[in-house]
Amino acid sequence: MPTRDNQRRKVYEAEYYAFNRAGDSPAEFTLKEAQKFVNRISSRGLYQKLGGPRGVIVKSNPRRRTMSMMVSPFAIELADGWGYNKDVILHEMTHVLIYHVSRRSAHHGLEFVLLYRRLVEQEMGIEQRRKLDLGLEKYGAKWGVNGSEWLKKKLADL
Ligand SMILES: [Zn+2]
Repeated sequence: MPTRDNQRRKVYEAEYYAFNRAGDSPAEFTLKEAQKFVNRISSRGLYQKLGGPRGVIVKSNPRRRTMSMMVSPFAIELADGWGYNKDVILHEMTHVLIYHVSRRSAHHGLEFVLLYRRLVEQEMGIEQRRKLDLGLEKYGAKWGVNGSEWLKKKLADL
């Protein structure tokens, strides 16, 4: 679907812009540290209240070394090097959360961006979240709770 791909591209560009991510970015974490970070994310209030699962496993990506992705509702795989960074792990954990909240297949729409911003602010601080917002503006990515009735309801119930 062209519209969705376009939104995905805009979200990626916003992330590259905000976090200086590139294919050759160095790893911030080891695999063990990445797992610790995932455990921390999944112990937090918002994630838990929305129904995010505990026990998400972090794996190194043996097949496609250039990709990081959610490989099951309870596992993410990280690309060598740049995949082992907070912003990438938060991106993949947002896919996990969205899946468990909505049972919708992973994509990068309004709800994805809204929850990603929340997790970035929580784990990386408000300055990083503001940088991300600048990127989202710059590349024209859509986000927000308006237009997402189910997420609006979920968040109002917390
Ligand atoms: Zn993604």
